[in-house]
Amino acid sequence: MEKIVSLCKRKGFIFQSSGIYGGINGCWDFGPLGVELKRNLKNDWWYNFVQTRDDMVGLDASIITHPQVWVASGHVENFHDMLVDCKDCRKRFRQDHLETERCPDCGGELTEPKAFNSMLRTRLGVSDDSSVETYLRPETCQSIFVDFKEVYSSTRVRIPFGIAQIGKSFRNEVNPRNFIFRSREFEQMEIEFFCRLEEEDAWFDRWQADIWKWYLDLGIKESGLRWYEHPKESLAHYSKRTVDVEYEFPFGWGELQGLANRGTFDLTAHGAHSGKDLSFFDAEKNERFVPTVIEPSAGADRTTLAVLCDAYDEEEVSGETRVVMRFVPKLAPIKAAILPLVKKDGLAEIAEELEKKLRRKFNTYYDQAGAIGRRYRRQDEIGTPYCVCVDFETKENGTVTVRDRDTMEQTRVPMDELADYIGMRVSFERD
Ligand code: ATP
Repeated sequence: MEKIVSLCKRKGFIFQSSGIYGGINGCWDFGPLGVELKRNLKNDWWYNFVQTRDDMVGLDASIITHPQVWVASGHVENFHDMLVDCKDCRKRFRQDHLETERCPDCGGELTEPKAFNSMLRTRLGVSDDSSVETYLRPETCQSIFVDFKEVYSSTRVRIPFGIAQIGKSFRNEVNPRNFIFRSREFEQMEIEFFCRLEEEDAWFDRWQADIWKWYLDLGIKESGLRWYEHPKESLAHYSKRTVDVEYEFPFGWGELQGLANRGTFDLTAHGAHSGKDLSFFDAEKNERFVPTVIEPSAGADRTTLAVLCDAYDEEEVSGETRVVMRFVPKLAPIKAAILPLVKKDGLAEIAEELEKKLRRKFNTYYDQAGAIGRRYRRQDEIGTPYCVCVDFETKENGTVTVRDRDTMEQTRVPMDELADYIGMRVSFERD
């Protein structure tokens, strides 16, 4: 884990937020490469689960909502962590994260648990008496329920269908830890899929299969993934069934995504609380009902961390250690590096011109500094799948070498075919 954290900082993937002020606990910044990686991941999710399906639509709702949303959802009453303090060293822990009844750090005696609401509060408005207290959303899904009617009456969707949203969520986690795994500000990728009660199990199974396949398509090794079924007695207040996808991080197994059958809990609660009818009218069957909800709820940051951990590789090449980030090409921050073999003899000019042309199609990087072997290594370390070298033969016949990051094999490709040659290999498109 230390190697990954250090590579992320050194190469500009992820660093501590507000670092020059000593950092702020539980908040992270995605640097130039990190933002590309995470954006590719979110775009791939959107492409897979929204754009290429005919039973899904998208939403981008506000982070700050009416405070009653969180009363109706049960968060004001139930979104608590039980906290205990060590009477000796004063450290604070989440009770459900403890494996012993005494302090895991010093062995001291713990206090009785106290409930602590994890929602981040804020105030809207400027005057003391008219400002309203509300929350930064702790999950993206509630606005999907609140907007359910707006969506289905403004589009032609019919049940079964789903609404997807990607966006920031905030939780005042007691112990943010394990790098970006548990932070206080993070991004979720959530789907609420509305179906009929009699089809709930079939849709649950279908989503379970679709989610699993998505992780494999991200290049994550199947041996590093597993399902965890929540025992009935520990289910959240809204859930009829929950299974989690877990990944084996260097610090142990951790949840990447939850898949829950939320039944009719949320639409019923918001309907009752707002006084608005949130049922669905099926005109064909002339029937009104509150749909059942299957919810795949994933974290973009945790998945990015899983991708980083899974991609990290070290190997011996000619007596040196080669560090390679083996990202699947569609996720790699930079798709191709364009490298003139030497700066002189007009090679740099050809390479620069080529890079300018290619950058309109996908992310590229131009590098002419240092020995070619070093430049290849720099790209390996950030997971660039293709290195294009402009050499003397280029001047003769217009071909360049394309070096594959994983096999290190080189193929000669005509320059005018390069955009297609690389473009095809780095796109989201599936068969
Ligand atoms: P945990 O038990 O680890 O606290 P959770 O079960 O509360 O997570 P959910 O409410 O199911 O998480 O949220 C859905 C997803 O959002 C999680 O699977 C995870 O990927 C992501 N997520 C939740 N909390 C955090 C956090 N503090 N930091 C980063 N990602 C998070």
